[in-house]
Amino acid sequence: MSNTKYIFVTGGVTSSLGKGIIAASLAKLLQAQDFKVTIQKFDPYINVDPGTLNPYEHGECFVTEDGAETDLDLGHYERFLNVKTSQANNVTTGRIYQSVIEKERRGEFLGKTVQVIPHITNEIKERMQLLGESGEYDIVITEIGGTVGDIESLPYIESVRQLIWDLGKENALVIHLTLIPYLAAAGELKTKPTQHSVKTLMESGISADIIVCRTEHELSADLREKLALFCNVKSEAIIQSIDVDTIYDVPLKMRDEGLDKVVLEKLKLAPKQPLDLTSWNLFLEKFKNPKHSIKIGLVGKYVELQDSYKSILESLIHAGAVTETEIEVVSIHSEHLESGAVAKQLEGLHGLIVAPGFGERGIEGKISAIAHARAHKLPFFGICLGMQMAVIEYARNQVGISKANSTEMDTACQDAVIDLMESQKSIVKKGGTMRLGAWDCELKPNSKAAIAYQKVSISERHRHRYEFNNDYVDRIFDENFVIAGTNPDTGLVEIVEYNDHPWFVGVQFHPEYKSTVSDPHPLFVAFVNASLAQKAKK
Ligand code: GLN
Repeated sequence: MSNTKYIFVTGGVTSSLGKGIIAASLAKLLQAQDFKVTIQKFDPYINVDPGTLNPYEHGECFVTEDGAETDLDLGHYERFLNVKTSQANNVTTGRIYQSVIEKERRGEFLGKTVQVIPHITNEIKERMQLLGESGEYDIVITEIGGTVGDIESLPYIESVRQLIWDLGKENALVIHLTLIPYLAAAGELKTKPTQHSVKTLMESGISADIIVCRTEHELSADLREKLALFCNVKSEAIIQSIDVDTIYDVPLKMRDEGLDKVVLEKLKLAPKQPLDLTSWNLFLEKFKNPKHSIKIGLVGKYVELQDSYKSILESLIHAGAVTETEIEVVSIHSEHLESGAVAKQLEGLHGLIVAPGFGERGIEGKISAIAHARAHKLPFFGICLGMQMAVIEYARNQVGISKANSTEMDTACQDAVIDLMESQKSIVKKGGTMRLGAWDCELKPNSKAAIAYQKVSISERHRHRYEFNNDYVDRIFDENFVIAGTNPDTGLVEIVEYNDHPWFVGVQFHPEYKSTVSDPHPLFVAFVNASLAQKAKK
């Protein structure tokens, strides 16, 4: 049995209170005291993973090194902690049931009736302890998706109840995140919803050890006392989580509230070193006091929902902080771009990102925007679908292959410059079958990419089905439009660049998944620098 301690984070009253950010912030504080921490998320929906979900449902799908398609909270964990997550860090009800059903089919339950308790809960408990048992971590934080009281969450809550019993009170604790609404008409903060949700948790046999209260206004000492009384905790275990301008402030707010102290005390742990947030503070200092400002256009088809491009937006924050640049991101819906009006629509921008995406909708708008950026020397960064569209734009407008397209958009297209790989053609299952996870890439020396990375061998994460069709290498690439990155094992084109331009780079992979607060992604930094230079030129 390992000595790992377990922290469970549940949510009450409403969704979207920011459990992921609280979990990541607490982990940051513990990491800054030299504890080895990881965070895992258990999601109560029945999809086996979020890979098949539309971004409008749960926002972006985050991809790990080992190719797991996961909840976007894992992105926050990696960005805050600079520690990689994996398939084991995100488990859904679908995956739990799939595994239990497979065991049943193999006859592993020896003729027993398979039930939620104990079979589903045992499977959940095993998975909750998987990372802890690796011996790599001092503390494992488990975020339970959804809201306490939901039917879907019940097996998870029951598993937590059993696990606390198995592990012992000193080795496990529960943090419950709730909302303290402000009623403007009464001019008052209200504690009743929190009391009810703590009570719901208790009905399931769990008493929360710490209550984190999301609020728009300061909690008074009286209110904290009242909450403590009703919720069975000491008043220092009532932690205020007040709205802040940036998620990166939350670790500091949690430190001020003493969240890490209460946690360590309850788990009977002494800090391994005094809290050291030097580099975090340096990042915040730069982020909050920019010396420059630029405007970046982000073209995509899900721009109404900020969460759809979470990792890209956060990567820009990291790159903005190191370059001391305030970046205003102008969201541009690809369907609203009209070929005749693109110049007007992109006016005032210092750089353009064309986002990843799937399907035909809005792609002609993307191609028009890329054509404009290329011809007018506007710094351009094409990511995944954005890279594929950059290839199509060049093929059509410069090489003269007027019917160039991707078979994703037109299965019968005459010139499939972007096409499915042979190995993808026979695939019928949609879930987990794209080219996923980390792949090596060799860079062309002195290319924009090689200059940015300052090395020629890199590894980046992928999530796509279609690829550049190598039958067109000779026709499309020339001294101006070049292959700047190639997969050494498969020969697939991973990066394209246009040379007669300050910075025009398209990447088949997703650099945004690897940018963190302490390690901003080199391509985003290079793109921001190019956009700054563009502004200076004007
Ligand atoms: N739809 C494209 C593909 O599957 C690009 C995917 C993406 O942008 N992530 O290849």
